[in-house]
Amino acid sequence: ERERLSRLRHTPAVTIDGHRIELLANIEQPGDAVGAVRAGAVGVGLFRSEFLFMGRTGNLPGEDEQYRAYREALDGMQGLPVTIRTIDVGADKPLDSKAHKDTHLNPALGLRAIRWSLADPAMFRTQLRAVLRAAAHGKVNLLFPMLAHSNEIRQTLAQVDLARAELDARGEAYGPIQLGAMIEVPAAALMVRTFLRYFDFLSIGTNDLIQYTLAIDRADEAVAHLYDPVHPAVLRLVADVIAEGERQGKSVCVCGETAGDVTMTRLLLGLGLRSFSMHPAQILAVKQEILRADTRKLVPWAQQVLDGEEPAALLAS
Ligand code: PEP
Ligand code: MG
Repeated sequence: ERERLSRLRHTPAVTIDGHRIELLANIEQPGDAVGAVRAGAVGVGLFRSEFLFMGRTGNLPGEDEQYRAYREALDGMQGLPVTIRTIDVGADKPLDSKAHKDTHLNPALGLRAIRWSLADPAMFRTQLRAVLRAAAHGKVNLLFPMLAHSNEIRQTLAQVDLARAELDARGEAYGPIQLGAMIEVPAAALMVRTFLRYFDFLSIGTNDLIQYTLAIDRADEAVAHLYDPVHPAVLRLVADVIAEGERQGKSVCVCGETAGDVTMTRLLLGLGLRSFSMHPAQILAVKQEILRADTRKLVPWAQQVLDGEEPAALLAS
């Protein structure tokens, strides 16, 4: 079985009815890129850049250190695209640095991810400049976590413009980037059309989207049994975001755990998903599901699952 899976590595992920599916890797360190290519990823769909910042008690990484890390990831991907997500700290991903200790009552609802970046624009632009500079050496997409308000979108894009202007002033080279937003708060899913006005692509973070839609702490064992990736409300939000992206001809990826769960592959294909980003170890198994899938059958079936009261029961059918 292992051997058969590894032979699949260079086979393109195409459904029986001819849809080419993009299988991307989630990585946490630049060095993970090599393994992603080896696993058959056609790019990095989610570089969780916060891992460069975590586990450090002293200074956070500066512009040059980050620039080298992003370049290393690009080099590791050998010309394939890399989607770098700006720092997503807080809640389940705390910083160790004393200056950034999280002492709030509800950190998952607090100053995390893009909120944290926008609260410290100098730190944020340091990261943006590093990413823009790395983009001179390969195909880079930039992804922003946890956006929920249109004014956060505008502030974020203004910071990108400012970072470019700072590099211009320094005479520093930088490259073009596509800009994307994570859809991981129900508010964002519900205002997907606003997001599509501002961004080139979207990436659905199901881990947080499930947590926030169902009010289930993703890290709390006591309520883990209620954490349901196929809750009808979650599926409705995911389906609507995929459909709206398709209508507007913009790429929508799923980069939460759902994307790497082989029991979800057919459903996501049936909902129209064409881009999946997951832990590299899952890629071949998901590809195997895709090679067996026929979206002409999966589309009507997915609609039935979507309309059902207990999608979990239908999923097995
Ligand atoms: C998600 O929320 O689904 C996601 C991909 O981001 P993270 O797991 O890093 O919060
Ligand atoms: Mg998330």
